[in-house]
Formats: sequence, C-alpha cells, structure tokens
Amino acid sequence: MKRYVVVGAGAAGLTLAYLLTKAGLPVTVIEKESEVGGLARTFHYDEWHFDIGPHRFYSPNPVVGNFLSEVMGDDFLEISRSSAVHFMGHYHSWPLRLETLPKLPLGIALRAGLDLLGKAARTSEGSVSFEDYVLRRYGRTLYQTFFRDYTEKFLGISASKTHQNWAKVGVERATIDEKVNTASLAEIFKLMLIPKPSDLKFLYPEREGVHAFWKRCAEKILSAGGEILTGKTPQRLETDPEGLSHVVLDDRTLDCEVLAWSGPIPELARMLHLPAPNLGYRSHVVYNVLLNSPPVHDYQWCYFGAKDLVFSRLSNPASFSPQTVPSGRGGLCLEIPCQEGDILWEDPARIRPQVLEDLLRVQAIRDQDQILSMKVERVRDAYPVYHVDYPERLDQAFADLQAFPNLHLLGRTGRFWYNNMDHSIENAFALAGELLEGMTQASDRARQVREELLTVCPPGTPEPEPAVARA
Ligand SMILES: Cc1cc2nc3c(=O)[nH]c(=O)nc-3n(C[C@H](O)[C@H](O)[C@H](O)COP(=O)(O)OP(=O)(O)OC[C@H]3O[C@@H](n4cnc5c(N)ncnc54)[C@H](O)[C@@H]3O)c2cc1C
Repeated sequence: MKRYVVVGAGAAGLTLAYLLTKAGLPVTVIEKESEVGGLARTFHYDEWHFDIGPHRFYSPNPVVGNFLSEVMGDDFLEISRSSAVHFMGHYHSWPLRLETLPKLPLGIALRAGLDLLGKAARTSEGSVSFEDYVLRRYGRTLYQTFFRDYTEKFLGISASKTHQNWAKVGVERATIDEKVNTASLAEIFKLMLIPKPSDLKFLYPEREGVHAFWKRCAEKILSAGGEILTGKTPQRLETDPEGLSHVVLDDRTLDCEVLAWSGPIPELARMLHLPAPNLGYRSHVVYNVLLNSPPVHDYQWCYFGAKDLVFSRLSNPASFSPQTVPSGRGGLCLEIPCQEGDILWEDPARIRPQVLEDLLRVQAIRDQDQILSMKVERVRDAYPVYHVDYPERLDQAFADLQAFPNLHLLGRTGRFWYNNMDHSIENAFALAGELLEGMTQASDRARQVREELLTVCPPGTPEPEPAVARA
C-alpha cells in the first residue's frame, strides 16, 4: 500500500503524522537523528534535562491549544516569562522596563533619546536590509550599541546583508511582550513607562523538558498504527510522471503516495537533481553546564550581544520546570552560533577555556567549583539565515519543487521559516486538511478527521506566512 511519507520528526512532521494516522492513513516518518523532536528535543544526562535553548509553548490559536491538551492532557506547568539582556557589562530585564533607565550608561540613554526625538536615521531608499530597517525604527545608537553586534554574531553575516524580515520577526519579538505591537522606538519608550508589561502565560511539560510533549505525540502515532524510523534518512527519491513515486532507504523502499519534507530545502533539491538553492542555515554548538547549586541569576534566558563573549544566549532549565534538575542543583544551557563544518563545529571542545572564562566574566556562576560537568552537543540547521536576497532565492526553490505535485514542504526548516512550534503545528494542520480534502475515497475515520479539521481550518484559511511570523 502506498504510504504517506514524512521526512523529519520535528514539531511539524510529528503533528502531520499524528493527524494522518488518526485519519487511518498509512504513515511512515523518517528521522535522521536517534530521537524525535527536531529542534524541540531535550538532552538528558541522568536527572538533568536540557532543551535546545529556551523552549516553551504559546499560541493564541485554540486549534493549537486543543492539540496540546489532546496529546499531553494536564501535564503542563503554566509559566510566566522572565528574560534579560546583558548590555554594556550589566544585566537588564528584557523587555526593557522603567527601572532599566537609570542602569543604562547616561551617554547611551541620552543619545538614544535624541534619536527618538530627532528624525529617523537616513537610509537608502527602498532598502530591505536589517541594518536600514533597524536604523529607521530604533535609531543609530541602539543599532550600533546592541542590535548590529548581536545579529552579526548570531547569523554570521553582516547586518547590511541581512533581510529586514529578521528584524520583524526576531527583534520585535525579543524586545517586547507579545500583546504589544511596537512600531517605533517611541513606543518602546512608552512601554517602559507602563508599570507592568503584559503577563502572558506559557505552557511547559512538568517533567523531562519540552521533548516530553513530542515523545508523547510519537507514542500516540505508533499506537494509532503509524511508523517512525529514527536514525534513517532517504538515500534516494525516485520519480515518475505523476511526481514522487518511491523513497529509497538503506534497507527498504517505500511506495509513496505523498512526501512531506521538513528537512533543509537544499538537501531535497540535490536529491531531486534540481539546482541547489543558495539558502543557508545557522547551526549551534550547545554547552550544557551541570551545576552543583542554582546559577547566580534566576532569569529563564538572557541575551549576550557583545562579540567578545562566546555565547549568544544562556538559559536556565530549572526556571521552566524545577524538575529539569535534581533538587538543590542547577544548570545553564549556552547557545554558541556556528556553521556546520567550521572549526567550532568540528572541534567544539577547543573553546572550553573561553566558555569558562566568559561564564565567570558575566557572573553567571559563582566560581569554577560550581561546575560539575559540561556536556557539548551539536545542533544542525537551528536558524534559517535571512540573507537580503532570500525571498527571491526561496521563490525560485518553491517554483522548482512545484514540478512534483505530491511533494509538500513543511515546518521551520522545510519552509525556511524563522518560526515557533505553534506555527509548525498550524502548518501541519493546514497540510493535513489539504491532503484529506483531496482524497476521493475517504474511509469513515478519514472523513471524521477531515470534518474536525474543517471546523478548525476552514477552506481558504491562509497558511501561516513563511517569512514573517511571531517567533
Ligand atoms: C534555540 C531555540 C529556541 C526556541 N524557542 C522556542 C520557544 O520558546 N517556543 C516555540 O514555540 N518555539 C521555539 N523555537 C522554535 C521551535 O524549535 C521550532 O519552531 C520547531 O521545533 C520547528 O519544528 P519543525 O518540525 O518545523 O522543524 P525541525 O525541528 O527543524 O524538524 C526537522 C526535522 O527533520 C529532520 N531531518 C532533517 N533532514 C533530514 C533528512 N534528510 N532525513 C531525515 N530527517 C531529517 C531533523 O533532524 C529534524 O528532526 C526555538 C528554536 C530554537 C532553535
């Protein structure tokens, strides 16, 4: 029997597989890592559980909310946000609050204020670069003192070569709480005068990290008759005049009704002998630091923009759930951006002395003796790199891949989309609706799931916008 093949067992691939198996369709998920979860997986070391950076669920969409409780029941904690930024040698709460003002160096606060009162910095007409977008909206002082360095360190390309969508998604999300939509620096300053920023609640699995949710989802797929093959990747994709016909693995060949691909787009293009699109992803080396007592600060995560600090963000798993570390102990997850194949990727242990020095420098730990051990992990394709030309490159790749009608691109990596888990979930719901809609001889189960999907994603519901989303 022809199978619905899903490449990638991340949030998008697992949600799609969950919906299709629930509809009674034969589904095979192929995942190259040994664990499911994709970017939302968790590293476990005895009683310590470290996600890849900070990971929590939030969605205003009831469809996503229902899906979360269908899979996990009540086994979630409700948590608030508490994040920080390390800026010019000091910690500030983030989003900025009124009490931040006196802590900013006077010169910077004054110059940022003058930027605000004066005209927006002049930029080239029609420019779509990150640099020009931030200059126009936030002024030169904040651009030069924070946004430029953080972004260049994070993405590994110049801010003038980065597309403005990176700012639309990343900066504004990081700057403010979600209910408030800043249009300018003036609004951020106004926000700082609001005594208490909006206090959204997020969901987080009570035990074993964010991965607990995706593990539970995978178990439900298996018990509904789906198949999940971990540690596997397609060796070859075969085509016929109708589209994709077979997915060839090292030990078997799958007859393919539909292929949903949530891996990197260039890899798919190569397998289909199409021109490889110039779409790059940024990878991460992650240092998970096991501590004999809680870290100095209790924020959930903190951004570090300074280029001479090796990490871009620290997160504290115990501030998501106390059950992620043994009682009385602590942990810190350090994200260090890199390129797959560069020196850091190949030999992450080489920066260990600098990691230690920087942790002490920013006073994230009391002293070296607080560290029990440091575990190093590699995370491929953590972020799509929004080069200034990426919309055209992406359009071309999508156009080339349309030659295969039963091929669907899915999720963050598969759609080259700086998104969150809820967006990948919504994307999978929309695709499941489309696939079930197209079935001519639907079984009762498929019809029932299709009806459910129609109530949550009626025909014509736009797919989440790939390039700009709340992330
Ligand atoms: C540091 C960090 C923090 C984040 N914080 C949050 C947060 O707080 N809240 C939130 O909602 N979201 C957060 N996100 C985003 C969230 O992780 C993603 O939106 C979501 O996990 C994307 O899921 P996906 O399935 O679309 O893509 P992915 O997770 O990228 O899944 C793709 C899967 O395909 C597999 N794959 C790739 N190529 C192949 C191949 N050739 N063969 C087989 N398998 C393959 C990969 O191994 C992976 O498992 C964060 C992301 C990062 C990196």
